[in-house]
Amino acid sequence: MGTAKTEQIYIETYGCQMNVYDTQLVESIVCEAGHTLVNTVEAASVVMLNTCSVRENANTKVYNRIHTIRQAKQNQPVKIGILGCMATNFKSDLLNDPKLNIDFIAGPDSYKQLPSLIDNCYDSQEKPFDVTLSEFETYSDVMPAQKSGVNAWLAIMRGCNNFCSFCVVPFTRGRERSRSADNIVEEVERLVALGYEQVTLLGQNVNSYRDEHYDFADLMAKVSDVPGIRRIRFTSPHPKDFPEKLLHVIAERDNICNQLHMPLQSGNTELLKKMNRPYSKEEFLGLLDTARAIIPNVSISTDIIVGFPGETDAAFEDTADVTRRANFEKAYIFEYSPRENTLASRRYPDDVPKAIKNQRLQALNAIQKENRSQILLSQVGQVQRILMDQATTKKGNDMAGRNESDTIVIVPEAMATHLAVGDWLDVTITGATPLVLYGTPVNHE
Ligand code: SF4
Repeated sequence: MGTAKTEQIYIETYGCQMNVYDTQLVESIVCEAGHTLVNTVEAASVVMLNTCSVRENANTKVYNRIHTIRQAKQNQPVKIGILGCMATNFKSDLLNDPKLNIDFIAGPDSYKQLPSLIDNCYDSQEKPFDVTLSEFETYSDVMPAQKSGVNAWLAIMRGCNNFCSFCVVPFTRGRERSRSADNIVEEVERLVALGYEQVTLLGQNVNSYRDEHYDFADLMAKVSDVPGIRRIRFTSPHPKDFPEKLLHVIAERDNICNQLHMPLQSGNTELLKKMNRPYSKEEFLGLLDTARAIIPNVSISTDIIVGFPGETDAAFEDTADVTRRANFEKAYIFEYSPRENTLASRRYPDDVPKAIKNQRLQALNAIQKENRSQILLSQVGQVQRILMDQATTKKGNDMAGRNESDTIVIVPEAMATHLAVGDWLDVTITGATPLVLYGTPVNHE
């Protein structure tokens, strides 16, 4: 029998938006079990870190954080639990390292077990853990504890079957499974009733979304039909099986943003094969041409890895070439680091020197900065609709909103006095930096 005491729980989230969403699920589950959420480590009797394993520095950050928490709480009792991808990937290391002294562990499909895991860590001889990966768990029966704001995240599916050779997600989050479209529509209706203006649908590979009757394009149309939802975004699709039908749905619907996140990873066809990403450089560029033909003003962003095993100068030049030609509005560029359990880490030596990886990262960032500067500069003079989402920026009392491409548009303080988070505003774009736009309200005297 557990002690079933009421805990003060503090949760910290690392990594992707899926983890941000999962933390909201966890908050809902532990509150339902009678526990209370607190905002600081100091006030907590239980600290949970919802972790990420996608990049090496994410792991290191968590290990350092565990030590800091132990130090901060050395005179107070505290239980520390690890959730998320590191829980699945490093279960034994985490449980057996006496310096870390972790009390319990829950993988991404085991959050409903958290109340009993917390309970058991007081009186069990063994440290409790559950990292079972499920073929069915979608948490469709848990309403996430959404924070107030203008955007709500909504996971439409979990897991991934693609096994890109560098990626740990299929090992830490298990196989693909989708929530039913009706259940997703119900959640969007609830979010609208709570006052959300925008929803972002999340999945590791949304092209694989399937329920009994609908594919992802159908689901987007159904979500777009929910009365009151004014902006819909989604992430991420996969270039290998991107459906043209989805491009038409985006083009036809005003409340679906003309925005695509299309992860390139590499522009070299041979390297893409080694990455187990079945498309070529030419197919990727062709897909962008098709997208731009169907949605003329579409904003395209991407993810790129530099320094994957075997990346020669010529292979890197292919990636640089695609980066120039694709005219991405945003690119998230990372240096390769081997992830435990992945095919790449077992089969391919990490043979690109760190210094070369870094040079390539800088080179791509420079190309991308030029792309983005040109795109943002070309928008000066346009009238854009923005959704205000930040009360202040670093500079005084300016306010900021986001346009359809998700770019921040700053409205200077003098013209922002009557604005509030959640307001919609038409602005004339008056200036651009490589990072943000500046705008003044249309009709401002
Ligand atoms: S599609 Fe590839 S990169 Fe994306 S989560 Fe799945 S395995 Fe990882």
